[in-house]
Amino acid sequence: MSIKTRFAPSPTGYLHVGGARTALFSWLHAKKNNGQFVLRIEDTDLERSTQASVDAILEGMEWLGLDYDEGPFYQTQHFDRYKEIIQKLLDQGDAYYCYCSKEELDVLREQQMANKEKPRYNGKCRHTKEIKEGVNPVVRFRTPEEGVVTLHDVVKGDIDVANKELDDLIIARSDGSPTYNLTVVVDDMDMGITDVVRGDDHVNNTPRQINILKALGAELPRYAHLPMILGDDGARLSKRHGAVSVMQYRDEGYLPEALLNYLVRLGWSHGDQELFTRDEMIKLFDLADVNVAASAFNTEKLLWINHQYIMNSEPELIAKHLNWHMLQRDINVETEGPSLVDIVKAQRERSKTLVDMADASIYFYKDFEDYDAKAAKKNFKAGSDDVLASLLSEFSKLAEWQGSALHEIVLATADKLELKLGEVAQPLRVAVCGTGMSPSIDVTLQLLGREKTLVRMQRAIEYIKEKNN
Ligand code: GLU
Repeated sequence: MSIKTRFAPSPTGYLHVGGARTALFSWLHAKKNNGQFVLRIEDTDLERSTQASVDAILEGMEWLGLDYDEGPFYQTQHFDRYKEIIQKLLDQGDAYYCYCSKEELDVLREQQMANKEKPRYNGKCRHTKEIKEGVNPVVRFRTPEEGVVTLHDVVKGDIDVANKELDDLIIARSDGSPTYNLTVVVDDMDMGITDVVRGDDHVNNTPRQINILKALGAELPRYAHLPMILGDDGARLSKRHGAVSVMQYRDEGYLPEALLNYLVRLGWSHGDQELFTRDEMIKLFDLADVNVAASAFNTEKLLWINHQYIMNSEPELIAKHLNWHMLQRDINVETEGPSLVDIVKAQRERSKTLVDMADASIYFYKDFEDYDAKAAKKNFKAGSDDVLASLLSEFSKLAEWQGSALHEIVLATADKLELKLGEVAQPLRVAVCGTGMSPSIDVTLQLLGREKTLVRMQRAIEYIKEKNN
């Protein structure tokens, strides 16, 4: 049978890296098996679900390139179907109305706690047919009294839970709205999900869901519960540890391919291999190889992977993402300046993130206001104006603005003025970039172009003259 997996986030916040890792593993499992991947938005909690969060999830999935074959489906559009199933369970005796009040349940709970028993529903309404007028009952699932549910988890192995450990869970609240365990079961069944891949915070729900599926005569999916992700201090990964939202990684200059590559290694490995193309991930990934133990998030390693991708990916691909960062800086590269592909080639060795790359490339497009103070102090000395003037006069004569010819002039000028190469190239660099750091001087000048270079050199000459007067 063909494999069908799903990612089923609740839209109550941004898409965080833990969710993205779940989505990725589920997506990989489908792709690897030529199956289908479904996106299902679990938005039945009307108080906590927001459209902004739905948008953030869709945006995150798109940015990561986790495409879905079906969906997005919204559980709020399935309320009629959930009602129908609740009624079916009631009709066949697998569910019943419970009229116990909150106060009664609180008392019961306190008694159980006092007796050091596990707090659970005592089944009081299981056998009553009596209807309490004026009370809106909840609906509870009638958990089998005997027997054991065995969850064959692809990651965790077999987990046995005795039915007597499970109490009769509520499947519809007193206002008639269905609860999580019911909606998940109905949708997994209706959508023909064969493999449920999700975080192991849901593992305790699974035996309950299996019981409901059995009551409905549905085929059971396979389950894979993924271990959690920890921060570098061993606590569960949270905002405290810095970025956890997928889109924040975009904002901080990570490539989606790098983040995916990092995430695939959180809990899964293939020998010592660290870098995987998307196709390799699909080919090599196997849910059965997922670690049982939790894995820790390591930002240093993510940064290293990002740098590898920046250095080795197609420049066109990086340029596409860099463009987004340039737009954030009000730079529209369509209208002026060098092509971003050339910027990528010039800057990628020295850029660990696209934020580094964008910040270090602004001067190719926009004039800078001030010179970097340290760089100016070090490189703009009395006499530097003459060095720049000499270069300027030679540059102006060039018929073609070519890196190699520019480089020759810098060398010849150093020679002529009996200066070290750095004593010529550094003042020039600060003059045109405003800082002492840029790609090699020939590449820098070529990218900057004739006009910007000459204007900025002239400006620096005047600046140095004035400063040394
Ligand atoms: N909606 C649930 C969550 O966001 C996941 C449900 C599931 O995967 O079964 O935690």
